[in-house]
Amino acid sequence: MSKETHEFRTEVKDLLNLVIGSLYSNSEIFLRELLSNSSDAIDKARFEGLSDKSILDEDSDWKIKVVPNKEAKTLTIVDNGVGMTYAEVEDNIGTIAKSGTKAFMKKMDELKGENKDTDNPELIGQFGVGFYSSFIVADRVTVLTRKVGAASTEGVIWESEGTGSYTIENTEKTTRGTEIILHLKEDSLDFLEEWKLRKVVKTYSDYLAYPVAMDIVHSEKPKDDEGKVIEDADAIETIEEDVLNSQKALWTRSKEDISEDEYSEFYKHISGDFGNPLSTVHYNVEGNFEFNSVLFIPEKAPYDLFQQQGHKGIHLYVKRVYIMDDCKELMPEYLRFVKGVVDAADLPLNVSREILQEDKLIQKIQKNLVKKVLDTLKIMKKKDSEKYLTFYKEFGKVIKEGMHTDWANKEKIQDLLLFESSTQESGKLSSLKEYVERMPEDQEEIFFVSGSSRSAVENSPHLEIFKKKGYEVLFFLDPIDEWVAQGLTEYDSKQVKSIVKGDFNFDEETEEEKKENESFKGSLDLIQKYLDEEVKEVRFSNRLTDSPCCLVADENAMSANMERIMQSMNQEMPKQKRILELNKDHQVVKYVLDLADKDPKSADVKEYTSLLFDQALLVEGSPLPDPVSFAKKVTGLMEKALA
Ligand code: ADP
Ligand code: MG
Repeated sequence: MSKETHEFRTEVKDLLNLVIGSLYSNSEIFLRELLSNSSDAIDKARFEGLSDKSILDEDSDWKIKVVPNKEAKTLTIVDNGVGMTYAEVEDNIGTIAKSGTKAFMKKMDELKGENKDTDNPELIGQFGVGFYSSFIVADRVTVLTRKVGAASTEGVIWESEGTGSYTIENTEKTTRGTEIILHLKEDSLDFLEEWKLRKVVKTYSDYLAYPVAMDIVHSEKPKDDEGKVIEDADAIETIEEDVLNSQKALWTRSKEDISEDEYSEFYKHISGDFGNPLSTVHYNVEGNFEFNSVLFIPEKAPYDLFQQQGHKGIHLYVKRVYIMDDCKELMPEYLRFVKGVVDAADLPLNVSREILQEDKLIQKIQKNLVKKVLDTLKIMKKKDSEKYLTFYKEFGKVIKEGMHTDWANKEKIQDLLLFESSTQESGKLSSLKEYVERMPEDQEEIFFVSGSSRSAVENSPHLEIFKKKGYEVLFFLDPIDEWVAQGLTEYDSKQVKSIVKGDFNFDEETEEEKKENESFKGSLDLIQKYLDEEVKEVRFSNRLTDSPCCLVADENAMSANMERIMQSMNQEMPKQKRILELNKDHQVVKYVLDLADKDPKSADVKEYTSLLFDQALLVEGSPLPDPVSFAKKVTGLMEKALA
């Protein structure tokens, strides 16, 4: 193919500017990114070599080479990994394949709009810029690559100045793998110095499993037969290859010898994150099924946490040979934010996805890892609640999915949940345990109400009796909490109950009250008749103290909030009739009841009934079936009052 010039996509341009601007003070990380890519590429070539020996025969001296050239002012990173085809170069480097890019740029724009500081490496870190970090130090980058198995004429050369466009064409390349040639900016020339390269590799990439090598030129004057330096002779140059990293896979080393910085750098390598992990778990199991693992809980959720694709989760190795970088079989969906490495000693090297899904050993390892992660979170919650809150704000929603998918660990998961509540200030979260500890002696059950926001629930009439009795009510404000509630029927031997469902009768009815209620039966029936289409029952309420009325659901029926959530997800729902509860101590209700009793034909009874019902819908946040008619009725009332 002849040389072609392409424009970068707009997102790429924006991203490049951002990367260069905000990571400038942190310029050395470009090397970590490029070495990390080379290491990944070698992992892949080595993996393919397991089934195709010709790959190993061609070259299996796995190595990444760093080549500074002071005359040309270039720094080149060479690897003998898988390389890329023409199409892969276009996909991986010419455009940004990452699904989160748009979301990320949008977030940055929002921050800019709010005049917040976007010049912050941590923000970029949540996204992970990888290859593009080359442009922090280079004003031109050339990628020369040949895919494993491709002919020497099928090499590809890609070049860009990181401004608007790039060129790409086929070229001759005699060796497999990739060379990244950085044409360094004048202010980045120190990356040609040996001491600098040594320092950066040691700091950021020491753990890489492959040698990061560099040619070191020794210049020495020759010696005479007696071993004395011949002073007036010309110096002789010898070149020796030196390995700059110690190459020990991190997870095989003992915990005591690994510093926090080393764990962090390793985390960045496997996750693509630029920030440090929130928590690190180095966990080895010996015996029947051996494995080494290093797991990380990130500090920030990626922008695409709720999208299915594109997550590098758990990297699977078998006896230090890379197998895959997203082994879904090792971590359940609801813990998909966990990053890390698992090296299993007893799996066959040729293990495939199909085998993994069935494999008993993998299932055992998974069980262990899940337990470890949940225990780590439990301890974090207990010992460092602030850190736990940071975690929970990012990943709490995801953890909750486990309430429905991981029955075996339900009890552990429910202890990790946090909710707002009626007796705590806005934003303050409590665990179920804390709630139970605060329960007054006469309270037997745990109460919650679900809704779309705190303000939507905290003044709900349903809460009135609970306020009066001094019973705390948990606020379930996440849409997913509705599903959590379905799985959370009991905690600490106490029933967990929605306050908008069923009946609450905290105080026994007296004989007198019973009689009084009976006497209104006719009126209630009449009201029911007028609302027959909408409600299945009209009854006196035990939960209202101030408001005239509210709508409740049957014990086992869906709450109004759940109905709205389902509708917002375009789920067809059969219409559910609910129960209208009236507060018989309320003046308006009293008036309607009396009128219905004395003058059942009065048009006012019908009108007031309809108004009460509409009000009940409004306060629970449900839409009115006929807002215009509601407004007319209210205006009518106002006119009457003025008359
Ligand atoms: P990431 O490593 O997170 O995928 P990068 O921007 O670092 O993102 O790299 C983008 C993609 O380019 C990689 O996923 C890989 O497919 C390809 N790539 C980059 N460097 C190399 C390399 N040295 N050899 C082979 N492929 C590479
Ligand atoms: Mg990368």
